[in-house]
Amino acid sequence: MSGYEIHSGQRSWWSGDLTTLCGLRIPSRDVKGKAWFSGPTCPACKRVKKQQKKGGRR
Ligand SMILES: [Zn+2]
Repeated sequence: MSGYEIHSGQRSWWSGDLTTLCGLRIPSRDVKGKAWFSGPTCPACKRVKKQQKKGGRR
């Protein structure tokens, strides 16, 4: 693999797991030490984030 994508997501407060905007589930132990919130490189995450910014609710 050529590097890994940085995903953006929300961390669940009950399990510590991260659910990314593109639908991945990252276990809490893998979340540690990675810059999940510093801006996604994952295309799918980017798109979702853009939509959130633009629209809000709809
Ligand atoms: Zn992603």
